[in-house]
Amino acid sequence: MPKPSAFASEFSSPHRSSSSALDSDAAEVLAKVFGYEAFRGDQQAIVQHVIQGGDALVLMPTGGGKSLCYQVPALVRPGTGIVVSPLIALMQDQVDALTELGVRAAFLNSTQDWQDTKDVEQAFVSGELDLLYVAPERLLTERCIQLLERGKIALFAIDEAHCVSQWGHDFRPEYLGLSMLHERWPEVPRIALTATATDVTRREIASRLSLDDARHFVASFDRPNIRYNIVEKQDVRKQLLQLLRQEHKGDAGIIYCLSRNKVEETAAFLCANGLEALPYHAGLGAQVRAQNQSRFLREDGIVMVATIAFGMGIDKPDVRFVAHIDMPKSLEGYYQETGRAGRDGLPATAWLAYGLQDVVQQRRMIDESAGDEAFRRRLGAQLDAMLAMCEAIACRRQRLLQYFGQRIEPCGNCDNCLQPPEAWDGTVAAQKMLSAIYRLMKERGQRYGAGHLIDILRGKSTPRVLENEHHTLTVFGVGLDLTDQAWRSVLRQLLAHGLLVVDQEGYGTLALTDESRAVLKGERTLLLRREAERTARAASPKPKSSLPDLPSGAQRIFEALRQWRSEIARSHGVPAYVIFNDATLREIALKRPDSLEDLAHINGVGVRKLESYGASILTCIADFAER
Ligand code: ADP
Ligand code: ZN
Repeated sequence: MPKPSAFASEFSSPHRSSSSALDSDAAEVLAKVFGYEAFRGDQQAIVQHVIQGGDALVLMPTGGGKSLCYQVPALVRPGTGIVVSPLIALMQDQVDALTELGVRAAFLNSTQDWQDTKDVEQAFVSGELDLLYVAPERLLTERCIQLLERGKIALFAIDEAHCVSQWGHDFRPEYLGLSMLHERWPEVPRIALTATATDVTRREIASRLSLDDARHFVASFDRPNIRYNIVEKQDVRKQLLQLLRQEHKGDAGIIYCLSRNKVEETAAFLCANGLEALPYHAGLGAQVRAQNQSRFLREDGIVMVATIAFGMGIDKPDVRFVAHIDMPKSLEGYYQETGRAGRDGLPATAWLAYGLQDVVQQRRMIDESAGDEAFRRRLGAQLDAMLAMCEAIACRRQRLLQYFGQRIEPCGNCDNCLQPPEAWDGTVAAQKMLSAIYRLMKERGQRYGAGHLIDILRGKSTPRVLENEHHTLTVFGVGLDLTDQAWRSVLRQLLAHGLLVVDQEGYGTLALTDESRAVLKGERTLLLRREAERTARAASPKPKSSLPDLPSGAQRIFEALRQWRSEIARSHGVPAYVIFNDATLREIALKRPDSLEDLAHINGVGVRKLESYGASILTCIADFAER
């Protein structure tokens, strides 16, 4: 059962109507409950709007601070805030985090027994809850609707609102039923929130949830602390080990793979190499999944190897890297998945290894997918945008945000900005390759792979070349000016630019497209990307931080505080960040407060946490000073 909050009477006060009074209530809740000095970005405008009873649709990146947008109004308005969330496995952590803040929160979902359910229902009806988390399928039951009618509702927050979108991979049919909230409780404000950035999804959310009159708040989707890095896939396991050992030693991170098999293999490979890696995919039993997720959240430095089934709603703020060893199917997916890194605003890496095979495999998956022509076209367009990102010559972040309709200057914190790749005129090389393919296309029914094609260009008399008399082709040996690897890169880019297709009917051989003819005829020039010789990591600039480096004294206090935090977290059975996040501990380490009053001024230290942990933190700092 939730504890009654220390300041409940103060904040669950009867609705005050003047808007300036409401503003000061919001500011007070922010400072006292959450321990924050100021709202960020649009938070204030959103909070004001909802407190005054308006509907809102909020698009904000992961880590942008969406939770406060409904938590503060729920504390200011009379009644309970009902939070609809699809993430049953995370509700306990969400409620624990609020309870640590002294907020009266609870959840209703299928993991509870009858008695717990009764207790929560009773607390709601008696007006003893500030926030109540409910899964959508639960909310739609007659029992739940009747329950809600017996209590007072401050607002409805619809979290992960993109789950209503039938095009996205997080689609939950139950979300479609949520439009009934408006019909049943027309006077209760609704706030829908998502980190999904496209206009199409936004319009879909607004229409399916009947949020026609809602005000839209669209934040910048930039995540400046994330460094984007897309590398050519060679020996991907070796590349991965290098990333984990040289750049992210001891860090928590997520590695995304396309298939369950690859998840298992990769996790086993990393474990065999002495790393703490766990698998996560939909084929594992619910219990194993829950256990692996919980270890990832609670322990330090775990690497989660997963399919995209993992990640939505994971609040863990200190995920330091997200690595993709298969190319995501869309830029939207890439953005969502990489966005799970660095929620705390500290430096983080988004790393993707991409190669020829990714292009071929994904084009094939689209061709073989069920669904009509329009559906396949849509998948194709999504893949094209992803490929263009991989082959981009200019700033990655610019391209990513442009996809979401937002403009920025070159970022200075992506691989292309830090070590610009060369663009070269690949027209002649493309012509050589396209004409070689044109010749091979004439041999119907034969299937030649990329290796054979490159052997011909590079004039290698392999048995296969001789056997098929390919050494007699005019293109034989015309490509000695480029290495095998460079030719692979040309081939990959031709596929990425749609100048070649993998022809399914022709047994998976390569085929020209209408556009290739323009290149062959010399009517179109082609700029290609040449990988920069990446300098050794040691020489590359340090990851950019949104916070300054800690001086060494402060760094040691920070580590002592982390140690203290993990002991507390373990004894409370909650993830460490529920106690305090890294950003708060860093600030404490820098400022070394020596009184409760000074400690209260640190961002993230509210009334309740000061009461619970203030003395203990001061002791921790004092002990350190003595050593
Ligand atoms: P989202 O749900 O949008 O991914 P969260 O609500 O989890 O983001 O917030 C991300 C982090 O930023 C959290 O650690 C949160 O405490 C912190 N945060 C949010 N708003 C503020 C604020 N106004 N001042 C300081 N920190 C904030
Ligand atoms: Zn950049």
